[in-house]
Amino acid sequence: MTEMTTLSTLLQDVTKLPSLPSVAMRIVEEVKKDKSSIGDLVDIMSVDPALTTKILRVANSSFYAPPYKVDSVEKAVNIIGLEALKNIALSFVIVEGLKRKSIDEFNHELFWKRSITAAVSAEMISSQLRSTGGDAFVTPLLMDIGVYVMYLSRPDDYLKVLDRKKVSEMTTDEAEREVFGFDHMEAGSEVLKYWGIPEEIYMPIAYHHKVDDCPSEYLEMADVLMLADLTSSIYHGNKSAKKFGVLGGILKDKMGISDVEVDEFTDSVAGKTVEILTTFEIDPGDMKPYSQILGEANEELGKLNLSYEQLIMELKQARDMAEKRAIEALEAKNKLKELVVKDGLTNLYNHRHFQDFLDRELARVERYSHVLSLIMIDIDFFKLINDTYGHPQGDKVLCAIANLLEQSVRKPDIVARYGGEEFVVVLPETDIKGAVCLSDRLRKKVEAHEFKLGNDIVTVTISLGVTTYDSGRGIKSKAEVIEAADKALYNSKQTGRNKLSIIS
Ligand code: GH3
Ligand code: MG
Ligand code: MG
Repeated sequence: MTEMTTLSTLLQDVTKLPSLPSVAMRIVEEVKKDKSSIGDLVDIMSVDPALTTKILRVANSSFYAPPYKVDSVEKAVNIIGLEALKNIALSFVIVEGLKRKSIDEFNHELFWKRSITAAVSAEMISSQLRSTGGDAFVTPLLMDIGVYVMYLSRPDDYLKVLDRKKVSEMTTDEAEREVFGFDHMEAGSEVLKYWGIPEEIYMPIAYHHKVDDCPSEYLEMADVLMLADLTSSIYHGNKSAKKFGVLGGILKDKMGISDVEVDEFTDSVAGKTVEILTTFEIDPGDMKPYSQILGEANEELGKLNLSYEQLIMELKQARDMAEKRAIEALEAKNKLKELVVKDGLTNLYNHRHFQDFLDRELARVERYSHVLSLIMIDIDFFKLINDTYGHPQGDKVLCAIANLLEQSVRKPDIVARYGGEEFVVVLPETDIKGAVCLSDRLRKKVEAHEFKLGNDIVTVTISLGVTTYDSGRGIKSKAEVIEAADKALYNSKQTGRNKLSIIS
């Protein structure tokens, strides 16, 4: 045992302990008497005029709801009863004697708020139980006095207790026993005994967290203290909702009261506590009825839910927008891709794409020993169309012929605008026979088509040059393939137009 103070050494160290004011000592003596007169009490209280004022304030409060104004200690005795009045007077002088502002980590104000809330709760519970034994205000008021005493004696160690409680599931008394070797039930009851406070008060205090071990004569009060502690912690502790549930369960079991009555009880504790705190000159802060706290919490929750739904909606909108943008971006990209490979006037593939496509296809022919055909097309006497009907009409003819060509080829084939009024068709996997066949079909199709230019119906013909490339042949490069088709086309022009020539 190094630094561990035993309970007795704690008590021996009386210099650190708060002493009871002399008025309190005299009231304690009165409390201990079986019979005391009003005169004796008035006599004692006259030493402390503020005490009389406070007693009158309590007697006039809604706690006792007197039918007339209480303006003398005698009248107060009629309303409160002599025993209760002694106890209340004692409470006042004890709290007054020990009360101090929060100057360090120990929150004195909260300590007394908790104690007074417990006292109010206990008073209400025991009046419900029509309890006769023990005082139900001073006893709960002092039930945690041990905490105060332990803190005053070894403040650093008591802060350790609070820390330990915070980081574990330990109860206060478990943490106290670990740090001090004893708990606030023991410390409190010992100090009260030392002060000369009667047994009916300190004995239930010694058991308020272990009612199962409590001697039967103090059990009822120990139970009331336990319930009062629970009620107080609904207002001043954590996990209020859980504690409220526990309290409701016990009250319903023990006292057979309804849910509504549990609500009413818990709510009225707040109102009465605020009044009593004021008479004790302790700032009640914003202590509201529990149902109001719950209501406000639910309202906040409602707002949260609303904004949650709103958030979901906004997210959905943002996602829809993003989706729309993505589609637009994709469309733009595809459009751009098309612009890069397509000819603006005819919407056929452009010259560059034709060159790229032919590169790829020729490589494939090389790899797989395939065959490929190429048709070069040039419109006959196209200059004449332009000259006769104007350039825009010429454009129309160009587009119409492009359309005719495009509609006549199979899926793997591509038609490109080679330049001006020249077109080229690439036919992968097509031998010369197939290419000639298609060429003739194209020539006939164009020849048969009637172009409407202004008021005139005009017909146009095309000349074609066909060539085939297969890997076994001697043609080496793309340029040579194109040149062969071009030569064939030239031949068609030279030999009468509206015809096809072959170089393979
Ligand atoms: P040939 O039968 O010998 O091919 O005679 P042609 O008149 O078709 O040949 P030429 O090469 O002398 O003339 C081609 C004409 O095509 C000249 C040019 O103005 C016209 N041309 C080229 N590109 C376009 C175009 O995009 N739009 C229009 N309207 N005309 C074009
Ligand atoms: Mg021409
Ligand atoms: Mg030409």
